[in-house]
Amino acid sequence: MVLGTVKAKAIRWLEDNRGLVIVLFCLPASFLFDLFIQFRIWLDRKLSATTSHQQRVQKIQDQVTEWSKLPDSEQKPLCTARPNWLSLSTTFFDKRKCHQVPIDLHDVLSLDEKNLTVTVEPNITVREICKFLIPKGYTLAVTLEIGDATLGGLAFGVGMTTYSHKVGLYQEAIVSYEVVTADGNVITVTDSNEHSDLFYCLPWSHGTLGFLVGLTLRIVKVKPYVHMEYIPCHSQDEYCKKIMELSGATDKNTKVADYLEVTIYDKNEAVIMVGNFADVDSKSNAKVNDVCWFYKPWFYKHVETFLKKGGEEYIPLESYLLRHNRAIFWVVESMIPFGNHPVFRAFLGWLCPPKPAFLKFTTTQAVREMTFAKQVFQDIVMPLDTLKEQVDTAVKLFDTYPLLVYPCRIYDHKGGAPQGQLRAPPKSRLVPGTNYSMFNDLGVYGTPGQVERREPYNPTHAMRAMEKFTRDVGGYSFLYADIFMSEEEFNEMFDMTLYNQVRLRYHCDGAFPRLYDKVKPEIDVISIGETYAVKKEE
Ligand SMILES: Cc1cc2nc3c(=O)[nH]c(=O)nc-3n(C[C@H](O)[C@H](O)[C@H](O)COP(=O)(O)OP(=O)(O)OC[C@H]3O[C@@H](n4cnc5c(N)ncnc54)[C@H](O)[C@@H]3O)c2cc1C
Repeated sequence: MVLGTVKAKAIRWLEDNRGLVIVLFCLPASFLFDLFIQFRIWLDRKLSATTSHQQRVQKIQDQVTEWSKLPDSEQKPLCTARPNWLSLSTTFFDKRKCHQVPIDLHDVLSLDEKNLTVTVEPNITVREICKFLIPKGYTLAVTLEIGDATLGGLAFGVGMTTYSHKVGLYQEAIVSYEVVTADGNVITVTDSNEHSDLFYCLPWSHGTLGFLVGLTLRIVKVKPYVHMEYIPCHSQDEYCKKIMELSGATDKNTKVADYLEVTIYDKNEAVIMVGNFADVDSKSNAKVNDVCWFYKPWFYKHVETFLKKGGEEYIPLESYLLRHNRAIFWVVESMIPFGNHPVFRAFLGWLCPPKPAFLKFTTTQAVREMTFAKQVFQDIVMPLDTLKEQVDTAVKLFDTYPLLVYPCRIYDHKGGAPQGQLRAPPKSRLVPGTNYSMFNDLGVYGTPGQVERREPYNPTHAMRAMEKFTRDVGGYSFLYADIFMSEEEFNEMFDMTLYNQVRLRYHCDGAFPRLYDKVKPEIDVISIGETYAVKKEE
């Protein structure tokens, strides 16, 4: 009894002082964890020198075949054995209900400089591929600014970067997938072979159609630096209009920049970032700024300084690609409010960011509930011409800044016919003379203003209203984050026509969970959200 009370009090104290816990425990622990991971990668590479990719894949095939021989009553749905806490997803899919198959695939397999592709195993991370490609003069056409994201996770979830206004989502830069199916076969999936139906459904499938064991991705030639121009905007109309023009949404012949992004600091205050690959000579050397050094201000704080007066600088390419990593966009601020203070940066900045894996590892049930009830983490893909309404809606519902905007092409690949979970954009929205429409990712991360001001806030109401707005404008919620939709609403947002056919053809029913069941939060977000809202209003 006494022990129980002490334990409850200790948990409460830990929850109330999460920032301190993160600095005292998570930062050093995540540093050690990182060392361990680096060591493991080194060891894996040494060991994998003795096994070929084919042998590693064969091991996975054997496990699926063994599973298929189990009696029906013992056949739980298949999933990877990768622990939940290693995934960047905010949800905790209950893997105990599944038959877990280890996917120990951590190698870069080949680089084809003639055809500009790289072939990798799925657990290669964004940081690792940057280290591999950039010294050779390349980068992935589409990546993500978080070093720990895996290339396989991005392929089966979704990826989008500031290059996406030129090429689209991460899936558009995938040439082929190597997949172990529910039958234990290994198949190569391209957009033009007999598995092209599967090709279009694997993105946004979250491992519900097969195991990914290899991936060939498009790469682009690069220069060592990115020349950045920071353009301040002081009205909503100004940044909405400028981003339409700069992204090529109004005219397919616009000469667009290599990288394009907007950070919105207030409804009427934003900085547009225009980046181009560049070399640096002795004259421009003074303008080089390596924004990733631990003692430098967080990137979005640095960019905010250009609101007063625009400016320019050169950022080394790898630092540009990982510019949001140290503050995980701006998520770290709500965990370590003093994290951008110069003193903190000087002494402990090198330990940032806390590893997402450790943050998830230390999340108790109560913290998990509080996180989604009192914070918001959403990335939403919506048509760029609705940006003003997007911002108005997000501000009304969540009242939190900054907001992230990445323009991104969404393609019509099949003349309007089903083409996977994302529908072809309506003809009226296509950029004239093309088969794509300009959408954007709206990233909303942080603590809602209402929560900060201790005003009534109902997370269920806010999230469901945002999802309804998203459906109404023909957009999509990223499925790494908590969704509040019913299955019916989910099926309205996503086109499940081809997905359902593919599940039948590749015998996925009974073998892999269905998409909605895989990505829906493991806790009852609606009722917990209502409970927190009631508490707030009392
Ligand atoms: C704060 C924050 C901001 C973000 N911002 C962006 C953004 O701006 N743009 C963007 O594109 N994304 C963004 N993301 C989301 C991120 O891209 C996703 O979480 C993505 O899925 C990569 O994470 P991961 O490598 O941990 O993949 P995981 O979560 O591990 O994998 C994704 C899914 O694929 C399945 N899977 C993975 N590997 C395999 C395999 N080998 N076989 C079968 N199934 C597999 C997993 O089970 C899971 O369902 C953001 C995430 C956070 C937390």
